[in-house]
This record gives sequence, structure tokens and C-alpha cells, in this order.
Amino acid sequence: MPDHPLQVTVWGENLHEQRHEKVRTVYPEGMHNAIADALRDGLGSRAEVRTATLDQPQHGLTDEVLDNTDVMTWWGHIGHQMVADEIVSKVQQRVLEGMGLIVLHSAHLSKIFQRLMGTRCTLRWREADDKEVIWTVAPTHPIAQGVPQPMIIPRHEMYGEFFDIPVPDEVVFISNFSGGEVFRSGCCFHRGKGRVFYFSPGHETYPIYFQPEIRKTLCNAVAWAHQPELFSVDTSQCPMTPTGWFEQSA
Ligand code: ZN
Repeated sequence: MPDHPLQVTVWGENLHEQRHEKVRTVYPEGMHNAIADALRDGLGSRAEVRTATLDQPQHGLTDEVLDNTDVMTWWGHIGHQMVADEIVSKVQQRVLEGMGLIVLHSAHLSKIFQRLMGTRCTLRWREADDKEVIWTVAPTHPIAQGVPQPMIIPRHEMYGEFFDIPVPDEVVFISNFSGGEVFRSGCCFHRGKGRVFYFSPGHETYPIYFQPEIRKTLCNAVAWAHQPELFSVDTSQCPMTPTGWFEQSA
């Protein structure tokens, strides 16, 4: 057990919930609160969970919040371009310094994910009530522990290949859809000192973040992304280094 609970910030753009009755019906408290509740329920006293939304000053991601966040989750869709580049840069720096980041569903096109990946992060999609079956392809991975193999989402938006991401460091889940497509739905990346996990379930018109196995996966992902013991080398600059430096006594 860590000395202090890990600090989690659940970021949600919170636009569909305000604009679309159908989404409000599924998530009356907002998607970010459903995700935050899932983490509070699953992680208990191991975590302190706060939420932040696009409409808040600095999108709720002040320096104080960022400095005190061990793991952030990010859900966005129609508001990607409304996120200030300055905030994206600060989140990116925190990831490089060791903050974990869980990127959810349509956040594949978020500025922060594209920035961290360096690719377009585009994919194939369709809203047609496909059944999604999520297969674990890394059964020993911490994110896959205690989740059913496979997990089934009765109705979901189809996300299919090709998904334009760099080759992931680890693929934990692959999904197939009733239309026949497949998708790398759970992918791990290391960026600087930080861990990044992309998890595709979570279209706003389906109650996916209330499914117990999805909530369990989110908790596992947050726990995996948190690194209490971080590599101590300063990576913020390139030190000019004289020959023999590591043999000289301090
Ligand atoms: Zn969607």
C-alpha cells in the first residue's frame, strides 16, 4: 500500500451531456462523474478522485491540480479543438515527468493523445449498434487481471482498423464487432517517464461506463499507470558531460 492515496483527476469535456437529451438520459450526472464513481468504488481508500471539465477555468487543470495528479483519465469528443494548447502542453509535460494518462474512446483524436503519439490516430467507425467482444491478448498484464475474457458490450459504436497509432508497447485487448471488423482496443505506451493506456469502450449514448467489467478495467488501468517510484534522472535538459564524469567522486 502506498503511503498516501494516489491522486486521480478524471477529465471530461462534458458537452454531449449538456447538449443532447439522449446522453443526459444515459449519464444524468455526466460521464466524468460515472467514471469517477467507478474509480472510487473500485479503488476505495487507495485513491482520491476529483473531476475536471472543459468549461472550468484552465479546463479544471490548474498547475496545482496538475502537480497533484498521479493519474489522469481523459474523455473528449466534440470539444477537442476547444482545449487550449497551453494546457495540452502542461499535461504532456506531466506525462513525460511520470503522470499516468488513460485515454478513453473518442479521445483518440484529442490533442493530448495525438501530441503524445505523434501520428494522426484516425480509425474506422460506424454507429450501428454493433455487438463488441473484447478479447484479452495479454492475460498476465495487470490491466487484464480479474476481468472476464472476453468482455461483451451488447451495443456499441464500431471502431475498426486501421488505427493510425505507433506500434504499442503492449496490446492488452483486441475487439471484434458484429460487422466483422477488429480493433486494438486496449494499448499501452511509455512516453518519457509516464505510462499511457488507450481504452476504446465508452461511446456517449450507451451505458458502458456502468458495466462492472469495464469499471474494473478502468480501475486496473489507473493502478497500472501510477508509478510511485520514479526513475530519478532529470530528463528536462541535455547535460554537457566531460569524459570520466561518472568515475569522479561527488
Ligand atoms: Zn463515440
